[in-house]
Amino acid sequence: MNVPLLDLKIQYNALKTELDNALLKVAESQYFILGKEVDDFEKEIANYIGCKYAYGISSGTDALLLALMTLGIQPDDEIIVPTYSFFATAGVVARLNAKPILVDSDPVTFNINPSLIEKKITSKTKAIIPVHLYGQSVEMEEIVSIAKKYNLKIVEDAAQAIGVQYKDDRSVGTIGDVGCFSFFPSKNLGCFGDAGLVTTNDEKIAEQLQIMRVHGGKPKYYHKVIGGNFRIDAIQAAVLRVKLPHLDSWCEGRRTNAELYNQLFISHKLASETGKINYSETEKVLLPKAVYKSSSIKNYHIFNQYIIRVEKRDELRKFLSENNIASEIYYPVPFHRQECFKYLNTNDSDFPVANNSAEHSIALPIYPELTKEHISYVVETINKFFN
Ligand SMILES: *Cc1c(COP(=O)(O)O)cnc(C)c1O
Repeated sequence: MNVPLLDLKIQYNALKTELDNALLKVAESQYFILGKEVDDFEKEIANYIGCKYAYGISSGTDALLLALMTLGIQPDDEIIVPTYSFFATAGVVARLNAKPILVDSDPVTFNINPSLIEKKITSKTKAIIPVHLYGQSVEMEEIVSIAKKYNLKIVEDAAQAIGVQYKDDRSVGTIGDVGCFSFFPSKNLGCFGDAGLVTTNDEKIAEQLQIMRVHGGKPKYYHKVIGGNFRIDAIQAAVLRVKLPHLDSWCEGRRTNAELYNQLFISHKLASETGKINYSETEKVLLPKAVYKSSSIKNYHIFNQYIIRVEKRDELRKFLSENNIASEIYYPVPFHRQECFKYLNTNDSDFPVANNSAEHSIALPIYPELTKEHISYVVETINKFFN
C-alpha cells in the first residue's frame, strides 16, 4: 500500500465540475483582481469565521506582514513570537527590521507557552503573534490578559487553523486585533496557488488594512502611508467560494482520522492515552491531545497536521518510507537555531520543548479522504518498527 502525505486530486475530482465552472466564469469576465468575486468571497468567509471584516490577501505571509505594517510596527520594536512555527511568523517581523523575541512551546499543544511570555516583555515590546499550530487554538485568555496589562497588540497567526473555535464558540482570528489566514494548497482550505486573509472586528483597523492592501493609496494615487500590493486574485476567491461550504466536513474527516490513529496506537499498546509528554515502556509513541475537546464545540481542533513524537524519529521515518508511507517534519529547525536569526543571540537551552519537538516529532498523513485501511497500515507499520 502507498500512503501519500496529501492527495489533493481526490478533493479536486469530487468538485471538478463546480471548480472548473468557477474558473471559466472568471476567465469569461476577464476581471482578475479584487472585484465582485472577491467581495462575495469576503462576505461569505467573514460569516463563516464570525468576524465583522475579512479581506482577501495575496498569501498568508503577506497577511502577517500587512497586519504588522497596519499596526504601525517600526524598526527596533520587539514582537513576541513562538520559536516553533513556520518561518513566516518570525520572517515578517525581521523584514520590518523589528526584533522577533522567541518563546518556548507548551509540551502538550506545541503552541507558545503563555507562562513564559511576561518575562520577555520590555519597554520596546509592541505585539504578540500567537500561532494556532497544527489547527489547535493557543491558550488565548492568558495572551489577551498579558496584552491588556502591557498594552500590546495581538496578531493571530491562524494560517493552519481556519474555523477553529477556542473555549467558547469564538473562532481564532477574531480574538486578537488582527487574524491572519493562509489558503496555501496544503492548508485545510486550500486554493489553486497562493492566497491568504486578514480579519478584524475593529472598524479603524479594517479601514487601514484595506488601504494598506493597495499600496496605502487613498484616494488612489494619493499616499499618506506606504502599503504594498497585498491583493488576492479573483481566481483564488472563486475557487475558495466553491470549497468553503465543504470545509467543516473536511475538518470532521481529519478529526475522525486523528481519533482512529489514537485508538489504534492505544490498542497496539504503543501509547496509553493522548497528551503524554514522557516516553516509557507503555508510552513508545506520544500522541497529540485536543485540549479544548468538548461536546459543545465542533471545531476544537482541525488537525491540519497530526503530530506524534517518538524517540528514534529519523529511523522511524526511514522505515515508513521503505514501506511507502510518506511523513514530514514540521519543523526541523526552531527559529532560535536558524542561521539567519543568529544575531538574536539566544541560548539554545532556553527552548527545551521546541528542541524536543524539532528532534522527535513526525507528521503522519491525515487528509480527510484517507481510508481506514491506510490508517491501519500506518499504525501496523509503526508497530512493526517497535517490535
Ligand atoms: C502556511 C503558514 C504561513 C504562511 O502562509 P503562506 O500562505 O504560505 O504564505 C504562516 N504561518 C503559518 C503557521 C503557516 O503554517
